[in-house]
Amino acid sequence: MEQPRPIAGSDYPGTYQELLAWFPDDAACRAYLERLRWPEGFSCPVCENRDHWRTSRGLLMCAACQRKTSVTAGTIFHRTRTPLATWFAAIWFITSQKNGVSAQGLQRVLGFGSYETAWAWMHKLRRAMVRPDREQLAGDVELDEIFVGGRSTGRPGAGTSKVPIMVAVERGAGRRLGRVRMQVADRPNMAAIVEFAHDVVAPGSTIHTDGTRLFRRLGSMGFPHEYTNSYQADDPNTVMPGVHLVSSLLKRWLTGTLHYAASAEHLDYYLDEFTFRFNRRKSAERGLLFYRLLQQAVGADPHPLKELIGGRRPGLLHSSRYPGHTFERDAGARGKRRSAGRSLRSLVGPRETGRQARRVLRPGAGGRRWPRYRRGGPAAAAPSVGTPALRSGRGPPPSAG
Ligand SMILES: [Zn+2]
Repeated sequence: MEQPRPIAGSDYPGTYQELLAWFPDDAACRAYLERLRWPEGFSCPVCENRDHWRTSRGLLMCAACQRKTSVTAGTIFHRTRTPLATWFAAIWFITSQKNGVSAQGLQRVLGFGSYETAWAWMHKLRRAMVRPDREQLAGDVELDEIFVGGRSTGRPGAGTSKVPIMVAVERGAGRRLGRVRMQVADRPNMAAIVEFAHDVVAPGSTIHTDGTRLFRRLGSMGFPHEYTNSYQADDPNTVMPGVHLVSSLLKRWLTGTLHYAASAEHLDYYLDEFTFRFNRRKSAERGLLFYRLLQQAVGADPHPLKELIGGRRPGLLHSSRYPGHTFERDAGARGKRRSAGRSLRSLVGPRETGRQARRVLRPGAGGRRWPRYRRGGPAAAAPSVGTPALRSGRGPPPSAG
């Protein structure tokens, strides 16, 4: 099942010079994509015949039924008018930098005329960053809900613009962390987080949460479950160290690389990019991320513009898998309704400029502060530094509709 580990210099370019040498034109890019898409060799999608020849336009024609197949059909490169070598350069650029790039950074380096084009490329690629068939987390898993955003007015209590995000992260040996999974919650509630746990955590794993009653019920739903009451701990951050670290890295990434431009509407896809990077953070070969993203891109859906405008992905879980539980989530349908008739320009919203938000992040010295969310309620909240604000797009707020 597990493929042999790809090797720099033979399976993927190890350096930028190699990238340029390997992919001088569309034909070279197509041949590489064919290798990724059909590792066992091409077979006709209609009759599964393996004999084929290549047309002058680079299509693969089945020798038996004459059906022509394009390696880019049904992928994010479907019907692209841009040379594939430009896509490859974009993917190299995005994956070779530890924290990625903003849409404005991509626009600049590729010389795109419009910011909107770069934005759409970034979002197409983000959709390829998560495999739908990825493995579930296992072992000891911390599970919690964090909040990002909400430019607070200074008023204590939960701001309405804060977005709840469910986080699950594996505890490895020592203080090391394993893989992470994240998803925007429709609203902070029990059904959503139980659904999330079922979806991303393998049966038999031990789930660690804080002492909230909401989480205690997980134990009665088939998960071995340990909880620590954070109100008794000296420092609440030591109770869930994994979630705490992931949360601060996420917030730093949203403010630093993206400069607050992640709109709540598209936040799930930014979480996908963060997850892709976090789970591969120990990869010494940046070219391997290039390889993985391309590999997933030829397996991904094309995501035409109208779907990009649709915003959030539909819920990952089908309630039929868990008879007896009712899950009321249909984010996809709501996203479509919300964005009907919107143009790309109106959808893009705030710009991903990638400027360093040092002024905002600096503690004290006039830097903004937001109250930290704590389950103990506003009275227990301590001021904290670096909670980013999520701007909502120019469209209707996410809660509308
Ligand atoms: Zn055929």
